[in-house]
Amino acid sequence: MKKTTRRPARASDDAGRCPDRGKPCRPVNHVVVLVPGSLGEEAYSACGCGKRYPLADDVRRKLRKLAACEAPDGARLPEIDTYLGTRWPSERKHQFAKPGIAPVGTPALHVATRPVGELTVWAGRFGDQMLSAMRRAGGIGLAANQLDVPLRILVHGLARVMSPVLVNACVLEARGSAEARESCLSLALDGSAALVTRPRRVVVRAWTPSGALVVVSADEYLARVLQHEIDHLDGIEYVQRLVGGEQERVYCLMRDHGLPLEQLPPLDPVR
Ligand SMILES: [Zn+2]
Ligand SMILES: [Zn+2]
Repeated sequence: MKKTTRRPARASDDAGRCPDRGKPCRPVNHVVVLVPGSLGEEAYSACGCGKRYPLADDVRRKLRKLAACEAPDGARLPEIDTYLGTRWPSERKHQFAKPGIAPVGTPALHVATRPVGELTVWAGRFGDQMLSAMRRAGGIGLAANQLDVPLRILVHGLARVMSPVLVNACVLEARGSAEARESCLSLALDGSAALVTRPRRVVVRAWTPSGALVVVSADEYLARVLQHEIDHLDGIEYVQRLVGGEQERVYCLMRDHGLPLEQLPPLDPVR
């Protein structure tokens, strides 16, 4: 996902104002991290800017319950090393994507990615490559298939809240509704940023490259970024979630530029 421009805090706002929210910090995200072995558990709430708070006991219990699940259920991937260096190199350019990022129309972007079956040192190294590609492109989130790698790995730019590399992330719960402007590193077309309605809060479960299990109840910017990237991992581009006038406007724009609309059919807005 492309970074959105945020309202800069005014000098008079400084006292107690969150640099991310433009209003006071709030513990909007709740995180439980279960570390393998006897290393224990970390639990906290966090504002989008990273400011941390104690996590309420009832929320902690709920997230722990949701964490109780099978280990990653992917096939072992013997060819995994072949993705190091990525299949969409940083110097490769395309007119409809940010440099180093695969554009819409790339087949890997339009099918679901495969879960990672084994967490090896490779996952961390590839995660670092993804973070570099995301930062170079000016993004706040990136999915592996945006580098033409068909594996279920995403990265995000809210590392102060939680691990920035997430493996096999999936949405366990979603509630509420919120509208926000989104755009995508794989669709660098002026005017393609659009208002997307999504659940306001989501509970997401994922693994870190080092094998810790993370369950996060995310709101605001983190919820938006995670949903945008998990959609990518499921083969869905944000424009497919547009409805009404926004859908008409953006699809017209893409048609005018000869983009492959047959790979981007609008989805039923009901999830
Ligand atoms: Zn804050
Ligand atoms: Zn995107």
